[in-house]
Amino acid sequence: MRITRLRLTGFKSFVDPSDLRIEPGLTGIVGPNGCGKSNLLEALRWAMGESSARSLRGAGMEDVIFAGTATRPARDFAEVALHAEGVGADDEVEVVRRIERGAGSAYRINGRDVRAKDVGLLFADSATGAHSPALVSQGRIGAIIAARPAERRAMLEEAAGIAGLHVRRKDAEQKLRATEANLLRLDELIADQD
Ligand code: ATP
Repeated sequence: MRITRLRLTGFKSFVDPSDLRIEPGLTGIVGPNGCGKSNLLEALRWAMGESSARSLRGAGMEDVIFAGTATRPARDFAEVALHAEGVGADDEVEVVRRIERGAGSAYRINGRDVRAKDVGLLFADSATGAHSPALVSQGRIGAIIAARPAERRAMLEEAAGIAGLHVRRKDAEQKLRATEANLLRLDELIADQD
């Protein structure tokens, strides 16, 4: 997967719409302390479906919305659009996540409304996602070294692109259990008619 563009509106310190084109090769983000470098990486993880507000340095998910400053009022929504190549079947994919105060998050893939789970699966199948070891935030190296074997296995599975299979297996098991219950009920109904 290659991320080609990131568009932020009202996300954390990026109150005005900001459009970043990411060219092939190495990209560096430089700037003084507190200018928003980490916020950019968090925007990327957030658009990929990050569900933990704490891991985005907030108490609740709405903390990603621009909270206002002495000179600018707070915003009511935040939106991040991510363009990437090499994800799913399309040449280029646009994933948009938007959060509105009091209304929670909504996701779109190429303009179509989808569930958070669909976004997670899309990236998991491309061996990436909000928890990809390729996204190295501050303190992450220490966390990987200190990880328990099960956590390390989850990282390896994510890197191998098979993390999505676990989700699908759980879905399939649920469907199987529901079908078995239906069959049982059918047997009872048939027995009642005899
Ligand atoms: P450092 O080099 O110190 O690690 P950085 O460039 O990575 O800094 P960030 O941590 O990305 O900077 O940005 C921190 C800034 O973002 C702070 O000024 C903080 O006030 C601002 N910020 C975070 N959340 C919000 C929000 N919801 N609304 C407005 N500003 C926010």
